[in-house]
Amino acid sequence: MICPVINLAQQLIKRPSLSPYDEGCQQLIIRRLQSIGFSIENLNFGNTQNFWAWRGKGKTLVLSGHTDVVPAGDEKRWHNPPFSPIIRNGILYGRGAADMKGSLAAMVVAAERFVAARPTHSGRLAFLITSDEESHATHGTVKVVEVLMARNERVEYCLIGEPSSTYRIGDVVKNGRRGSLNANMHIYGVQGHIAYPHLADNPIHHAIPALNELMSIKWDDGNTCCSPTNMQISNIQAGTGANNMIPSKLSVQFNFRFGLALTDALIKKRVEALFARYRLNYSIKWYLSGKPFLTTHGALVDAVVNAVQHYSELTPQLLSTGGTSDGRFIAQMGAQVVELGPMNATIHKVNECVNAADLQLLSRMYQRIIEQLLS
Ligand SMILES: [Zn+2]
Repeated sequence: MICPVINLAQQLIKRPSLSPYDEGCQQLIIRRLQSIGFSIENLNFGNTQNFWAWRGKGKTLVLSGHTDVVPAGDEKRWHNPPFSPIIRNGILYGRGAADMKGSLAAMVVAAERFVAARPTHSGRLAFLITSDEESHATHGTVKVVEVLMARNERVEYCLIGEPSSTYRIGDVVKNGRRGSLNANMHIYGVQGHIAYPHLADNPIHHAIPALNELMSIKWDDGNTCCSPTNMQISNIQAGTGANNMIPSKLSVQFNFRFGLALTDALIKKRVEALFARYRLNYSIKWYLSGKPFLTTHGALVDAVVNAVQHYSELTPQLLSTGGTSDGRFIAQMGAQVVELGPMNATIHKVNECVNAADLQLLSRMYQRIIEQLLS
């Protein structure tokens, strides 16, 4: 008999839920949760499907994840079609196997086993599932959190199934994420003939020294939780390609990944003071895509560490590296947030895969975490 975790993971992978479309994945999960006594609230926005499900009342542990996946990429390079899951040598292949349909299956089965063993558990077990994590993340968890906060729902603990592990299941657990701040900037000059520079004003010449100083700033040293704040320029554009033209404008985009030692307001202030010193004629639009958050200690961290030690016989490293995650939204509710999931070596790649035995282990870990918090 095939393991229920692997079986459900395969059923989810078969549904080509390219972000932000769900393609029936959530209905599959909802039916399973309803049959063990969960109440369901669909919270769809635009073309994004989300649901909030809960069982019991009181102190709340939310299991959170996404049903959407990134595109398959070059399908010819997959050994097996990306949406036809297959197990070869104990490895489950398919788009979403690791990010994160495998974890969703592990969570659902963990909830089923927990409820079967403790039908009158204390506290509230909840699910917050979205189909918009991989693309814009505008109509997904962020909106659900808005709804929940508007009616004063409390969430104490949130466990996210994002693939956090490096070499062995649970060797890395994410207990926070850095913030992400984007800037889109235009630096203006006066267009003219390159042989008559006195009649023009070259924005490239103004930009280079200012950007050079921006690149040389040491923002902070980082700390135990976060690596040092880092700024990267992602794009610079100016000119038309003509050799004899001074352009009228230079456009530049840059991004900050920052820890708790800084705020987006402090970064903006310092950057704008720098540009003022260089007397740049510029406009800038800032976009904060996530505030930093960190859960240094508490019952959730303890429960996760205990579960990993129990099943993997190793003590996980607590890290806040990597990109942003939906944890940034749930952390706004004051919840402790921890991410524990499978190995991330193949996520978003062709031939994405996960060790089937790891998913079974992960499901046991999830169950042990739930038991510790809601028994
Ligand atoms: Zn993911």
